[in-house]
Amino acid sequence: MHLISHNFKPSERAVFGFDTFFILRYISISNRFLLFTIYPCHTISPVKGGFSMEVGRIIDPANTPLSLTNDGRLEIVFIGVGSAFALGHNQTNFLIIKGDQHIMVDFGMTGPKALAEVAGLKVTDLEFILPTHSHADHVGGIECLALTNRYVGQRFLNKPKLCMVISEEYQRILWDYTLRGGLEYNEEEKDTRRLSFSDYFRVIRPTWKTNQPREIFEVEVGGIHLEIFRTNHIPEQAENWEASFVSFGLFIDGRVFISGDTKFDRDLINLYASRAEMMFHDVQFFPGAVHAPLADLRTLPEEVKSRMLLMHYADNWQSQDASGFYGWAQQGIRYIF
Ligand SMILES: [Zn+2]
Repeated sequence: MHLISHNFKPSERAVFGFDTFFILRYISISNRFLLFTIYPCHTISPVKGGFSMEVGRIIDPANTPLSLTNDGRLEIVFIGVGSAFALGHNQTNFLIIKGDQHIMVDFGMTGPKALAEVAGLKVTDLEFILPTHSHADHVGGIECLALTNRYVGQRFLNKPKLCMVISEEYQRILWDYTLRGGLEYNEEEKDTRRLSFSDYFRVIRPTWKTNQPREIFEVEVGGIHLEIFRTNHIPEQAENWEASFVSFGLFIDGRVFISGDTKFDRDLINLYASRAEMMFHDVQFFPGAVHAPLADLRTLPEEVKSRMLLMHYADNWQSQDASGFYGWAQQGIRYIF
């Protein structure tokens, strides 16, 4: 994995090292003196299969938008890493980029603003989306995305219709319970007509993967391979994925695991830990409820934790002990594998 930072503050500059890179920070004092401090940012450590990180130049999202294409390597960029109720970070939504292909995974209430502020992009730049489940921090921005695409992107910017990667069952749920309230009645000249899911979205349909220990779909999107697995997220009382409401996580290109929203689920982690180079995992800081408690994640083998980045975290994350884990996932960082 290579790691390229692109949203440090203007007063911070990355300094390259062989094994560790440092951020040089300077603080202007009375406009005459500069106070320099240097601190380590990430340690470059070999993980399974030989692995390295690099720090790239700092990008100002306002002037240098994140590119939705790259040299063909797998790239993950979080536009948010916060929980549903976090104010310090945007909600956990991320882009997968590889070659000419991008997929926006989840687009919550903070999505449109986060896309602009973290990546320097507009909602009309997005063409592919994959929603993991129906909580508003994951789908609350899709109405904005759909309306902007239909009435601005397609009409004035020559953009194609949005494309959604979604199972048949979840498409029905997402439309009926979330999207149709804001998207069904929108064409003034045709007031007798109701719009439907297909008026807003093309669909890429994952196929069901047989003989798996849980429900898993798979799909190839422009060279990005996705395993889309069921998680046990809600309700709190659901004891396994079969008893829970539809919610998904991803295993990308057979290399990167992103849990999606899930309770602590040792079976799920065991299913992917030996194959994943890196695991991004949902976390909360108290027991019970519908996410994975940090205390439970701490019980994982050291080797697994050393490849695990925590995401979907609350505002009090800095007072939590994440020692043993790779660290906290950060928004605005290009994770390149
Ligand atoms: Zn959720």
